[in-house]
Amino acid sequence: MANPRDILKAQFGFDEFRPGQEGIISKILEGQPVLAVMPTGAGKSLCYQVPSQILDGPTIVVSPLVALMDNQVAGLRANGIMASCLHSGQSREDNITQWRDVTTGRSKILYVSPERLMTDRMLSAMKALKPALFVVDEAHCVSKWGPAFRPEYADLNRLHQLFPETNLAAFTATADEATRQDISTQLFGQGGEIIVHGFDRPNLSLAVMPVDNRPRQINNLLINQKGNSGIVYCLSRKSTETYAQSLRQSGYKALAYHAGMTAEARYENLERFMAEPGIIMVATIAFGMGIDKPDIRFVYHVNMPSSMEAYYQEIGRAGRDGLPAETVLLFGLDDIRLRRQFITNDGSERDHQMREFKRLDALIGYCETTACRKQALLHYFGETIQPCGNCDNCLNPPEQVEASQAARAIIAA
Ligand code: ADP
Ligand code: MG
Ligand code: ZN
Repeated sequence: MANPRDILKAQFGFDEFRPGQEGIISKILEGQPVLAVMPTGAGKSLCYQVPSQILDGPTIVVSPLVALMDNQVAGLRANGIMASCLHSGQSREDNITQWRDVTTGRSKILYVSPERLMTDRMLSAMKALKPALFVVDEAHCVSKWGPAFRPEYADLNRLHQLFPETNLAAFTATADEATRQDISTQLFGQGGEIIVHGFDRPNLSLAVMPVDNRPRQINNLLINQKGNSGIVYCLSRKSTETYAQSLRQSGYKALAYHAGMTAEARYENLERFMAEPGIIMVATIAFGMGIDKPDIRFVYHVNMPSSMEAYYQEIGRAGRDGLPAETVLLFGLDDIRLRRQFITNDGSERDHQMREFKRLDALIGYCETTACRKQALLHYFGETIQPCGNCDNCLNPPEQVEASQAARAIIAA
């Protein structure tokens, strides 16, 4: 069997595996079903593309979007690796040629949409083809609990029974614990392994502060951020305006951003934030999607975010350049009350609400932990790390004596 490292160099032109890739590749080559959860950009594709060049038989990759498939195929071909895809955006002749390349072994990797793969005709063609591996990319679409459930993905849960001889691997960037378990059970039945990797962002420092006086606390934090770009997240549209205004009065270059502003006003503020150094964007969560500014030095939360996932994403906008960046979350009881109300009033089914309450509890638990924050945050995403040495709790271990002294006093009495 060819060595993954040799394939990496010879066929993909990379010198080193990224963290996590090698472990996932060897599981796949051992024939172990595996769900890999890694952030966007971590390099998940390579984890099945390298095995596809080694395994004895074709690799079938299920992908949700024609654009994603075309992209991957083009990328592989640019490296001189033959790859094929079947989709409705191609002529019938094209599809026939691509399929033939796979059956003849000229191409060892085939991209296909879930609805096309799961037709009876395609499944019997697959039986004859004897694939070595099925890959489900964007696997969060499988789970009804995930944020992007797609009914045509749910049908993939038949694969492991239809093809007991063929290994399966699945990849996603977003899935909480319950969703991951669900994906694994749906796709693999029993015995799937879940590997989580790469969520740590070592240059981000984490801190949580109990609310005292929010404006004053934010002002105090900003004293150490002179000239830096950063984001201050608020819950309400109105408070972004008032905070931005009061910061401007204190001499900062602060702008507001929320979905209630006109598109032009939002665009103008975004442009300034991207181009001018030292702008503080005071924003609701409307600000974020696709913001790729490398030198955001701080993200402060005036209010509690909506979930651990949201929190991770929001603080993750800081420090993309790898240099130190500071994140602070203000934690107040009224925020918990508000979040509870949101969940109760959102009119969804009861078990959905129960899950939302559990997710909220996880966030509260994170805010209240006296252990390493980074450890707690990554633990939520299923990743294990050493204490970070860089969060509020690592730097200033909270005193736990109070409670235990009180408890001892009670026991002693
Ligand atoms: P993901 O699916 O996890 O979001 P991709 O598979 O699209 O990420 O990979 C992101 C980028 O990283 C691609 O440009 C890919 O070529 C690159 N990449 C992946 N693995 C390596 C590696 N070992 N060395 C260098 N670049 C890599
Ligand atoms: Mg991907
Ligand atoms: Zn820590």
